[in-house]
Amino acid sequence: MIDFVLTENDQKILDSVRAEALVCRKYARYYDEHEDEFAPDELEEAKDFPPTMSLFGNRKDDDTSVAIMSMLLSAGQCWGDYTVRMRRGSGGLGNAALRAAGTPEQVEKWGDTTLAMAITEPGCGSDPSQVQTTAVLDEATDEWVINGEKIFVTTGCRCDGVVVWATLDRAAGRAGIKSFVIEKGIPGFEVTHKEKKLGIRADDTAAMVFTDCRIPRSNLLGGKEEIPKASSGGFRGVMKTFNMTRPAVAAIGLGIAEAALDFTREHLKEAGFEVEYGGSLQSQPAVVQKFHELEGLYEAAMLTVMNAAWLSGEGKPNNVEASIAKAKGGSSVRQITQGCIEILGPMAVSREHLLEKWFRDVRITDIYEGTGQVQNLIIARNILEYDRTELK
Ligand SMILES: Cc1cc2nc3c(=O)[nH]c(=O)nc-3n(C[C@H](O)[C@H](O)[C@H](O)COP(=O)(O)OP(=O)(O)OC[C@H]3O[C@@H](n4cnc5c(N)ncnc54)[C@H](O)[C@@H]3O)c2cc1C
Repeated sequence: MIDFVLTENDQKILDSVRAEALVCRKYARYYDEHEDEFAPDELEEAKDFPPTMSLFGNRKDDDTSVAIMSMLLSAGQCWGDYTVRMRRGSGGLGNAALRAAGTPEQVEKWGDTTLAMAITEPGCGSDPSQVQTTAVLDEATDEWVINGEKIFVTTGCRCDGVVVWATLDRAAGRAGIKSFVIEKGIPGFEVTHKEKKLGIRADDTAAMVFTDCRIPRSNLLGGKEEIPKASSGGFRGVMKTFNMTRPAVAAIGLGIAEAALDFTREHLKEAGFEVEYGGSLQSQPAVVQKFHELEGLYEAAMLTVMNAAWLSGEGKPNNVEASIAKAKGGSSVRQITQGCIEILGPMAVSREHLLEKWFRDVRITDIYEGTGQVQNLIIARNILEYDRTELK
């Protein structure tokens, strides 16, 4: 049975994360303006808080599932500030890939490093099966030789290494795509560019080039070198990474959107409009009705995230539910933050407050790890029982 009720222990963990998030929020504007230049006093001030993952060590067997808690933790951290959370180090998307597909030896070797994930290329984004970066095995030296270009790699500058998607055989299509761990400092691996972005500015986004970059044979994630005969068996394996990260991206956006809702509720109250619950909606002022609609969007989207996470925690397939959470989350957080701006008027776009920044920061959650449109395509294919060739 689905049960989202938190245990006392989990509630304590969440309270601690929210307290830390408020400290991080103090640096939100600094990072928005200075991008990846470290705030001199940030780490000093935050040092009293235990790293979030260490709190997990206190968990008991009867606590809420780890999958659900990890969503609530992501949301709770981002309620403070997305970019500061990223900078305080909780690994990159490549770490999720390592956990999903790495061998125990690989997890042991790279588990404590920060790994970015490089799929997108100048000619390949929404359809990752079009990856052009190549990996060729040099049997004489037992090394893979990687050649290609990757763009828009989150944490590409500050990471210790990157999980790179490359094809062993372009003719094999999706089945030929594998992922490889490439550590920084290896000859032939160059970070070539850092993006200037609309939002999430402290979270660096990089382009990189691999030129005859040689890595050990054992750096193939999961270690399976053969290309499966069935058209997409291997590809499904690498795509598994997204079954938890897509709901997590939605949770990140929802954490930011919740901050926007809290800010708006407070300012409505100051203006004499108390948001009341339980009574008839029609009897409340239009501005409060609008606020309730935004809160409804938040609740509905959060339930899709919890559902996808719960399925994952139960070891059940959640491919479609992960896409539903991502699509619903990505569109809801845009509507929520924009709606908050509409409610509050000009003060909402002032840089005196963080609402305009939250509006910019949430935009990414409907783009990376598969855009909203592509998630809707995945959902539609599933409902209509069409394959990739029939609905594209
Ligand atoms: C800040 C930022 C960070 C990122 N981080 C990473 C990262 O860490 N690693 C990584 O590999 N990539 C990353 N990306 C890249 C991101 O995943 C891609 O931008 C995204 O997948 C879309 O690919 P594309 O840009 O090539 O757009 P395209 O695939 O060219 O799509 C352009 C538009 O067309 C729409 N579209 C495409 N196909 C369809 C279709 N069949 N039906 C309907 N609409 C469609 C898309 O939704 C999109 O709106 C990041 C991007 C940004 C902006």
